[in-house]
Amino acid sequence: MDRLKFDEHLCTTCQTSDCLVKCQFINLDRETAHREVMKIIKGGDSSVLRDCVTCYACEEYCQWGNHPFYLITERREEKGILTASRAITNQWINMCEPQGKYKVGEIKEKALSCCFIGDLRRLARGKLFEDVRSSYILGPEFFCEVVYLHFAKPSVIRERLPKVIENINQLGIEQLICMHDECYGSFTSLAPAYGIEVNFQPIHYFEYLFEKLRDLKSEIKPLNIKAAYQRPCSSRLSPDKYPFVKEIFGLIGVEMVNRKYQGENALCCGEVLRMVAGYEVANDIQRKNVEDMVQSGAEYGVFNCPYCQMALSEKVYKKGIKPIHIIDLCKMALGEE
Ligand code: SF4
Ligand code: SF4
Repeated sequence: MDRLKFDEHLCTTCQTSDCLVKCQFINLDRETAHREVMKIIKGGDSSVLRDCVTCYACEEYCQWGNHPFYLITERREEKGILTASRAITNQWINMCEPQGKYKVGEIKEKALSCCFIGDLRRLARGKLFEDVRSSYILGPEFFCEVVYLHFAKPSVIRERLPKVIENINQLGIEQLICMHDECYGSFTSLAPAYGIEVNFQPIHYFEYLFEKLRDLKSEIKPLNIKAAYQRPCSSRLSPDKYPFVKEIFGLIGVEMVNRKYQGENALCCGEVLRMVAGYEVANDIQRKNVEDMVQSGAEYGVFNCPYCQMALSEKVYKKGIKPIHIIDLCKMALGEE
């Protein structure tokens, strides 16, 4: 806990306690929210430590740059409050442990981080990625570790993240295009919050896509479709990148439909929550998400995170909405279906 930069004074004087007041899973009025935050800070026993479903959203709700969710996570671990069963928690810790089985391409100063998700490498094809496709990193040695927030295991993050950053540095990478929100959030939110130095420039892939699409503007055939965007939990760690969705949609002729669950009110895909909050919570989130997409009149359901896509694709497809990753949507506009 020592290394988490959390400003207690900010919370003492905070008039909003928005971190908990806006929480979609815990129903607290402002006064109670403030009291619970102060209890958590002091290391007391707060109901939040049991009721939080690990949606990450309070990291965005706090407008002061404090880290309420990281603090909740620290306190849970200190008190031995597991979010998932011990077996599932240990399975995740072991599954992502570096074992020397990583893949590295022909590394240049600029490289793609595919984290530990092979599907991200598949997505990085075509004109949009022709300059950088061969320069990539993939595997547990480059895993961003953010998932351990869900499992209340920040000690794993503190232990492994500096080594991941060191592995990237050793390759001489100066700019790292993060193909997943979680990686970008790890290097731009989590690492600084723990005082872990990042010596390369993380670039969110939305920014990369936006620039490339602008370069390729003359080759774009506007899609003229309506699409709903599914915002993932990890995007709460980089809310400043959300406006790029609309910008990218604008460049490829996609109308972003209005949804109830969008922007700050987004609901995650629910899949990891199945393990930490239970089936009932996860099924409810997924049902609300799918119904909301249907009501929005979207023809396409656009995903940013491959896990969200895996969790919701079949469900939206059954309702007549075509699921697609935002990168594949951009390729479609370039005639690369
Ligand atoms: S974490 Fe942020 S929103 Fe919550 S009480 Fe502290 S300063 Fe206020
Ligand atoms: S992570 Fe989500 S569920 Fe947990 S306290 Fe923050 S907003 Fe609420």
